[in-house]
Amino acid sequence: MTGWVVIAGLGPGAEALVTPEVSDALAQATDIVGYIPYVRRVTPRPGLTLHESDNRVELDRARHALEMAQGGKRVVVVSSGDPGVFAMAAAVFEAVEAEPAFAALDIRVLPGITAMLAAAARAGAPLGHDFCAINLSDNLKPWALIEKRLRLAAEGDFAMGFYNPRSASRPEGFVRTLVVLRETCEPERVVIFARAVSTAEEAIRVVALKDATPDMADMRTVVLVGSSRTRVIPRDGAPFVYTPRFTPA
Ligand code: SAH
Repeated sequence: MTGWVVIAGLGPGAEALVTPEVSDALAQATDIVGYIPYVRRVTPRPGLTLHESDNRVELDRARHALEMAQGGKRVVVVSSGDPGVFAMAAAVFEAVEAEPAFAALDIRVLPGITAMLAAAARAGAPLGHDFCAINLSDNLKPWALIEKRLRLAAEGDFAMGFYNPRSASRPEGFVRTLVVLRETCEPERVVIFARAVSTAEEAIRVVALKDATPDMADMRTVVLVGSSRTRVIPRDGAPFVYTPRFTPA
C-alpha cells in the first residue's frame, strides 16, 4: 500500500460546505489526524482510525501523520475552514522541512471554505474590495506585531477579518483591538460579528464600531471590519453589508 498525506479543510461547519474532493479523500483514508472537535466531524467507519489530539501540539500531530504515511497509511490531516488559514498545512510543511525524508512523500493540500469567506457571504459582500486577514491570537507571535498590523491595515483602508478574536485565556487582546480600531477608524465603521457560521448556533450581528463591545466575540466568532467605504443596506431582518468595487481617486 502506498501511503499519502492529504491536508484537508472541512469548511466552517455545514456538511454541504465540505468540498467533494475532501469527501473523496476522507472516504479513501485509513487514518484521520487533527484537533478533537475537527476529527469528530468525520463519520467513523470500519477500517478508519481516528487520532484525536489536543490543540497546540500541531508539530507532533504533523510528524505523526507523516510517519504513518511513510508506513503506508493514507492519512487525512483535518482542519476547520481552509487548512492553509491559521491551521495545519503550514505545520505539516514545517515538519517536512525539518526532516528531508518526508519531502519524498505524496502530500497534497485540499482547500476548504474559510470562516471569513463563509461569514462574508452571510452578510452580503463586505469583502467586495481589498481585504486582509489577521489572527488575533498571540500564541505564535508577539502582541506588538498584531497591533502594528492592525494599525497599518486600518491606515491602508483594508476591510479586515479577525480570526481567534477572544479566548478565556486572553480576554484583553480583543479589548485592545477595539481601542486601536477606535483610534484609527471613524465611529460608524461597520463591524460584523459572525459566530458559528453554517452551524445550528449561527448568529450574525452587524454593529457600528462605536457600539461594538468585547463580549460580542468569542473563539467561535470571526470578526469582519469594513473599510471606510463599506455600506449597510437596512431591511427587515439582518441588513445587507457590502463594500463597493469602485474606490474614487
Ligand atoms: N482554518 C480555519 C481557521 C482556524 S482558526 C478557517 O480557515 O476558517 C479558528 C478561528 O476561526 C476561530 O477562532 C474563529 O475566529 C474562526 N472560525 C472557524 N470556524 C468558524 C465558524 N463556523 N464561524 C465563525 N468563525 C469561525
